[in-house]
Amino acid sequence: MARRKKKDLVKIIGIIIFVVGIVSYLKANTDLFNKGPEGDCYVDFIDCGQGDSSLIVSNGVTTLIDASTREDGEKVVDHLEERGIKKIDHFLLTHPHEDHIGGAIAVLESFDVENIYMKRPTEGTEPTTSVYLNLLKKIKEQGKTVHAVEVNDSFECGAVTFNVLGPVEDYEDLNDQSVILRGQIGEISFLFTGDQESSAEKDLVAYYGDTLESTVLKVGHHGSSGSSSKAFLQAVAPEIGIISCGEDNSYGHPHDEALKRLEKQQVEIYRTDTQGTITVTTDGKTIQCTEGK
Ligand SMILES: [Zn+2]
Repeated sequence: MARRKKKDLVKIIGIIIFVVGIVSYLKANTDLFNKGPEGDCYVDFIDCGQGDSSLIVSNGVTTLIDASTREDGEKVVDHLEERGIKKIDHFLLTHPHEDHIGGAIAVLESFDVENIYMKRPTEGTEPTTSVYLNLLKKIKEQGKTVHAVEVNDSFECGAVTFNVLGPVEDYEDLNDQSVILRGQIGEISFLFTGDQESSAEKDLVAYYGDTLESTVLKVGHHGSSGSSSKAFLQAVAPEIGIISCGEDNSYGHPHDEALKRLEKQQVEIYRTDTQGTITVTTDGKTIQCTEGK
């Protein structure tokens, strides 16, 4: 009897070892699957008041697009510090308005910034605002230069390839001069359009057509009615739209007309004013959205 009990015990231990082995094997391979062939990537659409700032980190490489206002630049800095960012590899400023470049000096003073990208303003439209001039002064003081981006330029951020798509024409209006940037990781893509308005969107659609198609759209001009035209949304056909704007902002962003056009296009909408920082995580195959990070 005792011998039989011992045999049963050995059998049970054997089964336990086998089950634990199988579970460990499956877990290891599931993790590998979740990580995906492209590696990891997250995009934070930072809750930074009535301004814009998006952080993209992939395989340890960092890109920052815009830096919000002078007033809220510290929110951008705090967010990056919370994320453990020490160095910014690519820092792109879409256009020289205060709600996009206002916090740039705070960013430059707080982090080691490798590459700065801006578009050369259309001749005769070079801003004379103190926020713009002070930024150029700071860049010069730090011994850095600005890469003047043009259509067809590209750079790598870990597993993400960024391509400059626009602007495709010369515009007088600074909003329309916004750099249009598209990031691609595997099958997933992100489109950043700054504050470009509908006439410039029309030119973009005429130039690229359906190849503008992107999984995630950073909704143009904080959800203003002057952007997110029907033809543009149809060409981009985003699954997810992120609106960056301040709570109870004086512009009334996002405007109902833009929201309606996004809803009609069946875009899943996220907003920083009501949901805080929106984080999109992807492995190049699937995406997850979380709010309030
Ligand atoms: Zn703006």
